[in-house]
Amino acid sequence: MNLILFGPPAAGKGTQAKRLVETRKMVQLSTGDMLRAAIASGSELGKRVAGIMERGDLVSDDIVIELIESRLPEAEAAGGAIFDGFPRTLAQAEALDRMLEHRGSRIDEVIRLKVDDEALMQRIAGRYAESGRPDDNPESFKVRLDAYNTQTAPLLPYYQGQKKLVEVDGMGSIEAVAAGIDKALDKAR
Ligand code: AMP
Repeated sequence: MNLILFGPPAAGKGTQAKRLVETRKMVQLSTGDMLRAAIASGSELGKRVAGIMERGDLVSDDIVIELIESRLPEAEAAGGAIFDGFPRTLAQAEALDRMLEHRGSRIDEVIRLKVDDEALMQRIAGRYAESGRPDDNPESFKVRLDAYNTQTAPLLPYYQGQKKLVEVDGMGSIEAVAAGIDKALDKAR
């Protein structure tokens, strides 16, 4: 089963993806994690994306599509992927559909975590203090939220058109959101 965890920055996608890795033995494919690893390793790719990420802008579609493509065999071997933070543009969503189709596979479900902007701003204030992530600072976070609203949210009708979109309330505790996701997944089976 291939699943997309969809939602704005700080909606809890990473936390919930990690839990699904444990409970369902799926593979988490987080482009944000891959890019941060590239920066930490000091690679050419890391040098190219560091400034873009720090500002809160999106890196180019080509880069993230290639990162995801290189990890699809591993996810397939594990029986499925949880896409976390990808796709973020229509071009990425279409590329993902093509890549999976080419491998005889598909996206089965898109789970949208719904969280209001006010709650996101509060969460991020707490997370910045803890994580020290440079793009969690208030200015960059605003750019990330804008990128979500202008470039990523338009994917919702795309997946709705494919009848794959399920909405889960992302405002509760980690456990409550997890229960909502489990319910959505069990229904999909
Ligand atoms: P995340 O950890 O998913 O919030 O991603 C952190 C940052 O990495 C984003 O603000 C973007 O700069 C970059 N990034 C991650 N995934 C993508 C993507 N699918 N497309 C473009 N940029 C991305």
